[in-house]
Amino acid sequence: MQFSLPKNTNISIHPIKSFTDNYIWMIKKNEDAIIVDPGDASPVLKILQKEKVQLQAILITHKHLDHIGGIKDLIKAYPNVKIYGPKNNFSFIYKVVNNDDLIVIDELDITFRVIETPGHTLDHIVFADENHLFCGDTIFGCGCGKLFEGTYSQMYTSLKLLSKLPRSIKIFCAHEYTKKNIEFALMLEKNNEDLIARKKGLIEVDITLPSTLNEELKTNPFLRSKNLKQFKERRMKKDNY
Ligand SMILES: [Zn+2]
Repeated sequence: MQFSLPKNTNISIHPIKSFTDNYIWMIKKNEDAIIVDPGDASPVLKILQKEKVQLQAILITHKHLDHIGGIKDLIKAYPNVKIYGPKNNFSFIYKVVNNDDLIVIDELDITFRVIETPGHTLDHIVFADENHLFCGDTIFGCGCGKLFEGTYSQMYTSLKLLSKLPRSIKIFCAHEYTKKNIEFALMLEKNNEDLIARKKGLIEVDITLPSTLNEELKTNPFLRSKNLKQFKERRMKKDNY
């Protein structure tokens, strides 16, 4: 399957740190913003006010509280905000989006493609344009999400699907786990020179994201699994690590 991905121009993307290791991503264009996975409202409100931007839309990758916990307070502050997320029983009003749907946010003239990636949870979706992938808890820097609901096969299939995106696409994960993940990956592939270089390159770096798909394909042990069996072995090993 080849993805047809929309192209968005003149946007900038900013990480908003929340809790201990979450990233809420802000997509900014002129005086407007879209927020991805606001687990907490207060750091989001702070940056929206500081940057003097209007919140137009919220994108939800999955149901976990550290991705949606801030939504009610954001609705209070921005009653007209449009919310898009996977089919679920959320207690706020939002538009359900499904695989392959296009989300068009007129205020910013921005469009994203929805891709369903069950595994971490069954409802998990990601948002992509030609250059950006907001992947929630599906891919992490050098890692992938834990399987809370999906099967190994579902997660493996989801990762293989995302592996077909353009190699240059930037990957915006919802957690800062990269350095720890690299240590685990080095146990599996101690001679992987790309992995060794990635570790070195990040020594002084605080925010290790976004990465690129190309970088992940060269260093991420879950995207690099040769088959489902190896993926399963690696995922189980990581859970006990
Ligand atoms: Zn999660």
